[in-house]
Amino acid sequence: MKGWCCVDRFEEFLQKLTTMDETGSARLIAEQKDLCVCSGCPTYNECMREKYEQLYCIIGRSPTCTFEKKGCICPTCPVKDVAGLQKAYHCIRGTEQEQRSTTTVKKTA
Ligand code: SF4
Ligand code: SF4
Repeated sequence: MKGWCCVDRFEEFLQKLTTMDETGSARLIAEQKDLCVCSGCPTYNECMREKYEQLYCIIGRSPTCTFEKKGCICPTCPVKDVAGLQKAYHCIRGTEQEQRSTTTVKKTA
């Protein structure tokens, strides 16, 4: 059972997403959007609400809205478990993938 404990759920999720056809990936994204709890977060503001922005952890940070950090409830989100997320403040800091690569660059710099 070598290595069973250390399979990265996020890498698996990303691989699943990128190997799906367009319909499958669109469905998976839509399912995760429905689970996203951003709209209940203190940082989520009117700009984000008007644009119906969600799922920053996969799609990317907010392209136009600006905001103040007032707390992040990503750690309580069901998508965290589904996609194996470890980071937070995705609306400001970017996707899980972006945040992980930044960490790697910093560590190796
Ligand atoms: S982890 Fe955060 S950004 Fe991602 S779906 Fe959940 S609440 Fe939204
Ligand atoms: S990414 Fe985190 S901080 Fe930003 S709105 Fe969603 S839950 Fe709140």
